[in-house]
Amino acid sequence: MYDTDVIISGGGMVGAALAVALSQAGLAVMVLEKQQPASFAADSAIDLRVSSLNLRSERWLASLGAWQHVQQMRLCPYQFLQAGEGNAAVRFAASEIAEPHLGHIIENNVVQLALWRQFNEQVEVITDTQIVALQQNDSSVSVTLSDARIVSAKLLIGADGAHSVVRQLAGIGTQGWQYQQACLVAYVDTPYPQQDITWQQFYPSGPRAFLPLPGAQASLVWYDEAAKVKQLAQLAPAALERAFIEAFPDELGAVKLKSSAWFPLARMQAQQYVKGRVLLAGDAAHTINPLAGQGVNLGFADAMLLVELISANLQARRDLADSASLLQYQRQRKLQNSLMMGAMDVIYQTFSRDSDTLSFIRQQGLRLAANAGVAKRLLTQYAVGNGVF
Ligand SMILES: Cc1cc2nc3c(=O)[nH]c(=O)nc-3n(C[C@H](O)[C@H](O)[C@H](O)COP(=O)(O)OP(=O)(O)OC[C@H]3O[C@@H](n4cnc5c(N)ncnc54)[C@H](O)[C@@H]3O)c2cc1C
Repeated sequence: MYDTDVIISGGGMVGAALAVALSQAGLAVMVLEKQQPASFAADSAIDLRVSSLNLRSERWLASLGAWQHVQQMRLCPYQFLQAGEGNAAVRFAASEIAEPHLGHIIENNVVQLALWRQFNEQVEVITDTQIVALQQNDSSVSVTLSDARIVSAKLLIGADGAHSVVRQLAGIGTQGWQYQQACLVAYVDTPYPQQDITWQQFYPSGPRAFLPLPGAQASLVWYDEAAKVKQLAQLAPAALERAFIEAFPDELGAVKLKSSAWFPLARMQAQQYVKGRVLLAGDAAHTINPLAGQGVNLGFADAMLLVELISANLQARRDLADSASLLQYQRQRKLQNSLMMGAMDVIYQTFSRDSDTLSFIRQQGLRLAANAGVAKRLLTQYAVGNGVF
């Protein structure tokens, strides 16, 4: 006898989305979450951790019934996406692909809470707990929780983030590296009303990005050498505010700093996404340079495929951990995540080189892209998640 069909370790954005989708497919799910998500109030300060969600992720959240909860809380749509260097830039517009917007900037906490609101009676949530040991055999997987309780299931999904305990307990290794750059994220008031563009200006030391937030607010991301980022993070708020205004393009305006934090940047890929009845998804399986805002979109793409394959096993009355389908998950997602990670590294390397010749070539490339017609529309489709990723 099993205590539940599927145990999910981690009720963050990816784990919670998996719990909603698998329960809607008819499975009993147990979510183990280390900490209770922070509650939301209309006047609560914006969570520093925000993500750019593409149209594909939005449509999936809508199909799960969670998007309406996001809309009742806070989100900021954007219609334009711009990348530039010097005075060359390429701007993608939602109207070019006949969409109302290209994506939304949303607080991670809001996405997580919206999904938690969709938990039905098939989802059992245990908070303030974590797995301390796991065992599996041909027919089940069982985990020991921090309160010594033992729970068994047909499948265990590790969606417990970059430092996944499930990954470690299952003995799954990782490959990757720490980038030389880190990033400083700031939440600011801007002098302009709510904006509908997200832009990224490239410098040899790293890109500087503007992400609009609801009202006259924004999230700024400053990528630079790790030592420089740590130095900036130690500045007094007024000095950091001045540093942002001086270092960012003029279109930023005289922002007012509200809060900031810095993050190291790492690229990591688990060597396996599947080991017997244990699966990994989202940041537990891969972390990517956030410069193009793809992390959770890739995590949701993992989750979409997993739900499709597990539901097919359920329909066909096969073992939920049918090895052919789980290996298909690993093959397909590992390849697509690797391609996206590689693409991010090409951008990172290309724009990090400080040479006049390369800068000239890059700027010509941006001008070319700006006038690329059909190719530009295809790139825009990729940006919104309508491509292979
Ligand atoms: C600076 C920065 C900017 C980013 N910007 C973007 C962006 O614009 N767009 C985008 O798509 N992505 C972005 N990302 C990446 C994105 O934040 C991650 O990909 C995303 O949070 C991954 O979601 P997840 O649910 O897999 O993991 P997490 O968000 O890490 O969630 C893991 C959950 O598991 C819980 N947990 C952890 N350990 C345990 C345990 N042992 N037991 C139980 N529970 C546990 C945690 O409390 C958490 O709730 C950015 C990342 C950074 C650092």
